[in-house]
Amino acid sequence: MDAGHLLGPNGPLARGIASYEHRPGQIRMARAVQDVLQHDGVLLLEAGTGTGKTWAYLIPAALSGRRVLVSTGTRALQDQIMGKDLPALKSHLGIDINAACVKGLSNYLCRRRFQELSRSADATQPRFARSLPALRNWIESTQSGDRADLASIAEEDPIWSRVVSGSDTRIGSRCDFYDDCFVTRVRRRADDAQLVIVNHHLFFADLALRDTGFASVLPDYDAVIFDEAHQIEDTATLFFGSRVSTAMLDKLVRDARAALRGERGEKKQATRLFDAVLQRSSNFFSALPGSANGGRVPLPPEAIPEGALFALDNALAELAASFRNVRPPRENALQIARRADQLRDALGSLEAPGQVSWAQATGRSPAVGSSPIDVGPLLRERLHERVPCVVFTSATLTTGGDFRFVKHRLGIDREVSEELVESPFRYEEQAALYAPQHLPDPRASDFPDAAVKEILELIQMSEGGAFVLSTSLRMMRILAKRVGEQLDYEWFVQGDAPKQTLLDRFRDQGNAVLFATASFWEGVDVPGSALRLVIIDKLPFDVPSDPVIAARCERLDEAGESSFMRYLVPAAALSLKQGFGRLIRTRRDRGVVAILDSRIRRKGYGKVFLRSLPPARVCDNLDEIRELLISASQHPNMSSVSAS
Ligand code: SF4
Repeated sequence: MDAGHLLGPNGPLARGIASYEHRPGQIRMARAVQDVLQHDGVLLLEAGTGTGKTWAYLIPAALSGRRVLVSTGTRALQDQIMGKDLPALKSHLGIDINAACVKGLSNYLCRRRFQELSRSADATQPRFARSLPALRNWIESTQSGDRADLASIAEEDPIWSRVVSGSDTRIGSRCDFYDDCFVTRVRRRADDAQLVIVNHHLFFADLALRDTGFASVLPDYDAVIFDEAHQIEDTATLFFGSRVSTAMLDKLVRDARAALRGERGEKKQATRLFDAVLQRSSNFFSALPGSANGGRVPLPPEAIPEGALFALDNALAELAASFRNVRPPRENALQIARRADQLRDALGSLEAPGQVSWAQATGRSPAVGSSPIDVGPLLRERLHERVPCVVFTSATLTTGGDFRFVKHRLGIDREVSEELVESPFRYEEQAALYAPQHLPDPRASDFPDAAVKEILELIQMSEGGAFVLSTSLRMMRILAKRVGEQLDYEWFVQGDAPKQTLLDRFRDQGNAVLFATASFWEGVDVPGSALRLVIIDKLPFDVPSDPVIAARCERLDEAGESSFMRYLVPAAALSLKQGFGRLIRTRRDRGVVAILDSRIRRKGYGKVFLRSLPPARVCDNLDEIRELLISASQHPNMSSVSAS
């Protein structure tokens, strides 16, 4: 069956849905996905905002009859696919789609850990005691054990960290609760399903596990479709590296204590081991080099505090040996021993070849780790050579009009299928890009004053309805304080409330202003006139002092390439495109994106950014955008707003 026909003007969706408008780009995308699922290979597919990507890959995936994994950037999109898209497709297409959703283990309640907490002295502590009754009732009735289904306990409630599953705490088939375990159930459902909806974190956690001999979390599959595929390099970097933090060591000790509850004899000796791990962890992390801005710093071999590392490693080895020798052997004690060994391995891999080691000595949980400099070879070996069919799709994959950058970063070194589906939006009419040339360089000391003045003028013109997106927290705070105090409109700052709450308030006001950073650059959807102006302070270049970014640049420079043009510029262009994408969410939206970084017009590389953005009219004169902003503010507000 032709997936394009199902989405087309004479298909069942057009007949069954009164407001259905077929989209030629969506049909083209569905056919491209269907083709690669039939013939195998790699497909890179950029689909502009409004294409309707989700249906364009779900339909061919369902028709393929193969085991297809769909990997999304967020859990919210997983929920949307399971709760809305698949039921709608099933009912309108009349086909049976056997799908299961698998989230990261920490989304599911662990019955064993719940029992341990309930029986421990901690259960009487107010921060746990207040949520335990609701949790107990819920466990009686829930089929999923998915914490998202229990709205009465907030996501940040401390009880969750004590009762959810995790790759380090899950015991598996030797657990007393195994058959009744929510994770076991979800895995069994996935084993039976044809479509398995996962997210990138889970996908790469599973991929990294497949070579270690540990049981993989996901069933085997024939094909994978990555939505929001521009995030893949970052997620792969996370999972193909290693990391040890004080929080991980604290958690190990806490779980080890819980595992010995009731074992009087063992407990006394173990207390000495626990104290040793905690003390040596503190010694080690406080001896690490720090950075002034709280970011990561490189950790070359000579900067590793060897003595403190050796002492911590010894303490972990003793803890592991002691728990391995608990008699009679108990699975939860053996698991503590395995976790201690894994932490030792991670500490031991700080100098692994092809990786860059780093330290982050400040913040809530100081950490050390190592990250691959180039994930391309790892993806080639573990993904491209193993999975016959891979689709990468996103609204932002090309830079300057081609896929070269993303191909290189994703380890694709052969000819693959490429498809560029234009957005159905009429950017030329719906949007303008205001890129003034008169502002100082954003690195100059007079930039903040000039930016404040410009932002105030823009917001007066649009009568609010604006996002002010900064590339750093510092700049966000400066702008929020100096601009916010002069505004006649309600204004919000990222961090004042949870993201979704801020977005709801922003939308309800209709003329509010929100100051935010990178976390609002993507996955935020505010259709309608509530958002008619997006102001971006600076081109979003990666921080060049970050050890991973610095190592990547150095590698390219050593190979005789320009790291600036080959890496920093295209990566920033993709981010900018994401930020730009917040503005126009429907065919009726109108608005202006203002980029206050004059380098986009003055520097040669600015052309790469301009060529990467949707084809909006480029203006550098406030008068040219006044009319568009006025008409944007007169369009109706819409009811839904989401963060994903
Ligand atoms: S099998 Fe793992 S996740 Fe399930 S209850 Fe046991 S320890 Fe918890």
